[in-house]
Amino acid sequence: MAYSYQAPVSQTLFDRASLVTPGGVNSPVRAFRAVGGTPRFMVSGTGPYLTDADGREYVDLVCSWGPMILGHSHPEVIVAVQEAVARGTSFGTPGEGEVALAEEIVARVEPVEQVRLVSSGTEATMSAIRLARGFTGRAKVVKFAGCYHGHVDALLAAAGSGVATFGLPDTPGVTGAQAGDTIVLPYNDLDAVRAAFAAHPGEIACVITEASPGNMGVVPPADGFNAGLKEICAADGALYISDEVMTGFRTSKAGWFGVDGVRPDLMTFGKVMGGGFPAAAFGGRADVMAYLAPAGPVYQAGTLSGNPIATAAGLAQLRLLDDAAYAKVDAVSAEIRGLVGDALTKEGVAHTVQSASNMFSVFFTDQPVRNYEDAKRQEAFRFTAFFHSLLSQGVYLPPSAFESWFVSTAHDTRAVERIAAALPAAARAASEATA
Ligand code: PLP
Repeated sequence: MAYSYQAPVSQTLFDRASLVTPGGVNSPVRAFRAVGGTPRFMVSGTGPYLTDADGREYVDLVCSWGPMILGHSHPEVIVAVQEAVARGTSFGTPGEGEVALAEEIVARVEPVEQVRLVSSGTEATMSAIRLARGFTGRAKVVKFAGCYHGHVDALLAAAGSGVATFGLPDTPGVTGAQAGDTIVLPYNDLDAVRAAFAAHPGEIACVITEASPGNMGVVPPADGFNAGLKEICAADGALYISDEVMTGFRTSKAGWFGVDGVRPDLMTFGKVMGGGFPAAAFGGRADVMAYLAPAGPVYQAGTLSGNPIATAAGLAQLRLLDDAAYAKVDAVSAEIRGLVGDALTKEGVAHTVQSASNMFSVFFTDQPVRNYEDAKRQEAFRFTAFFHSLLSQGVYLPPSAFESWFVSTAHDTRAVERIAAALPAAARAASEATA
């Protein structure tokens, strides 16, 4: 499909980038390969808007893949960052900012008795798994197909066929040994989890799951799924790790734990808690966290962990995220979901809008999506047409049919009206699209 909407400055930057960076980007999905066309190089963001290098403004429904829950350049976050920068950018020593951020996390998320700060969600899940293996003395890890936990070697394994499949590496560079202790199961299938534990009693260190998945599109856990995981883990002596990198401090004040109340042994966080800077964390039961160096034997470290600028931004953002802020984000999410659903219905496009509090995505199928296999059955080519129509009208969606959309407290009436105005043509484009 050819797209008439040109972005010459972005294209020139992309050409330059492609010479010096593999694929022209520093994270694959940014390259627009799933949808085609020129990735937009953004130069600034304010509130719900991004401006690209060609000077075009977009209503942003990506929000940096989740972190920007207060919108771009929130004045109080910017001031906190400016004040922190003026004091110095990195000390390699403990500092009060990281204590305050840890205290804020512990205060918000009750199962987190202790927390360790890191710099990315990948580091958080990688470290949580190492800790779970060190604590239990076991090797195997259960993950679910369609759940993404960052580019941790052991977790870059997706489902093969069958109920309990040993992970095959998803990418060259991950060895069979690295993925061989990973058991990949279909999401929302407790029977598959029970079968895996029955096949490997006393061998599974942990089950890691997205608290409510957003990396195959938004596929919330079925009623009782997370509670079932916790119960199965507890009965076997395995740890239940809830990956809240995406949902944490977004789906409620206490993330998805605040929604379903299922108490994980370990949790991972990122995105919102960094206020747009590289800050992430893992935490949970004090007796498990006590295994972490220097308190315990499991090694984990980071030159920039607890960086003063990142912690200042994260703390400022979290402190602004009160009940009223979440109510606002939830309301604007519901409004946009309604508008998208209405526009697609009007054009007779088969679709399902799924949400997990304010996270949501649209699947181009009329069937409910409960796992990755369901998600892959959608007519993704319709998403491509929908995406490009919205992009050409100044609405920026995630450039893939398998990603969550994100909104912020800054998405006001004007932003929603711009989306509403763009939707009829986008729905028509989706309806007319051919595979
Ligand atoms: N876990 C989840 C649920 C995620 O959504 C992501 C990133 O999107 C990660 C882990 C990895 O985080 P990062 O990209 O900061 O390494």
